[in-house]
Amino acid sequence: MKTRGFACTSARAPLAPFSFERRAPRADDVVMEILYCGVCHSDLHWSRNDWGWTVFPAIPGHEIVGRVIEIGFKVKKYRIGDHVAVGCMVDSCQQCDQCLKGEEQLCREGNTGTYGGFDRFTKEHTLGGYSKHIVVREEFVLRVPEKLDLARAAPLLCAGITTWSPLKTWKAGPGSRVGVIGLGGLGHMAVKLAVGLGAHVTVLSRTPDKAADAQALGAHALLVSSDADAMAKAANGFDLIIDTVPVKHDLNPYMPLLDVDGTLVIVGQIGPLAEPSTVPLVLGRRRIAGSPIGGIRETQEMLDFCAEKNILPECEMIRMDEINHAFERMEKSDVRYRFVIDMASLEVA
Ligand SMILES: [Zn+2]
Ligand SMILES: [Zn+2]
Repeated sequence: MKTRGFACTSARAPLAPFSFERRAPRADDVVMEILYCGVCHSDLHWSRNDWGWTVFPAIPGHEIVGRVIEIGFKVKKYRIGDHVAVGCMVDSCQQCDQCLKGEEQLCREGNTGTYGGFDRFTKEHTLGGYSKHIVVREEFVLRVPEKLDLARAAPLLCAGITTWSPLKTWKAGPGSRVGVIGLGGLGHMAVKLAVGLGAHVTVLSRTPDKAADAQALGAHALLVSSDADAMAKAANGFDLIIDTVPVKHDLNPYMPLLDVDGTLVIVGQIGPLAEPSTVPLVLGRRRIAGSPIGGIRETQEMLDFCAEKNILPECEMIRMDEINHAFERMEKSDVRYRFVIDMASLEVA
């Protein structure tokens, strides 16, 4: 099927209008009209080939919310008109131990990325959500609960699940003490979700000027990491610290904050770290861990939880043709806290 989107044709080219074909739906496919798409930091990295494996022309976007407009004859869960969503993956082997556990993000064969992946049948390069339509197999389509505001739900599909998954893995809830480093797209969701789960939540920031923002998001405290006294007093005070900082940084100041068996989990950065010391790790039986997105079942759980608790990302809506400017602003961390593209604007772009 013919459709349109915004693509970049090289690492230096801005995103621009682009016409292309989506595959004809297979028996188990859902065809979606995309209504909203969130703008993730990965979209920027992918468009500019920062990781070195971008295939051009590239269409980013993996926080997708839309409406079903067509279904394959074997599709059971969805009907035309349903509000649905797609996150960072559109397929996996469906047979390995991880897939069978519902941890498709950890598929032994690698999951198929919503963009930058390769279709398991046609081997075509996958193209993301900065477009009018997308075709996705039923198993990777999520249901958007009726109570959830469609326009603001999109960032849950990457920023939401990426912070929800470690909160669930390390059992955050009433009585647990959660710290969040970095207050961007991921960090602000980590705060809201951890608060929703009943944890005591502290934002860790280099400067005190984040206090009002942290409080507005529902955090219970702010710990200023450049304040040596405050950091010393907070030693052993956390069960889980979610580190959402997207650039190379030093973990050493944070390790003493973890209690025995506490975990610092990295969700924001892919690349080298400054050298961590093993002393606080070994002596305090502390852990440094990593965590990607979650599985499909877990993502649905998170969407249902957000609907029930009325937890929504803070979004700044943009038109499709404002995307290049939005990327520039994201690079300066000038967004509170996630851009979302209103895909209706693609008609006029
Ligand atoms: Zn993302
Ligand atoms: Zn698998």
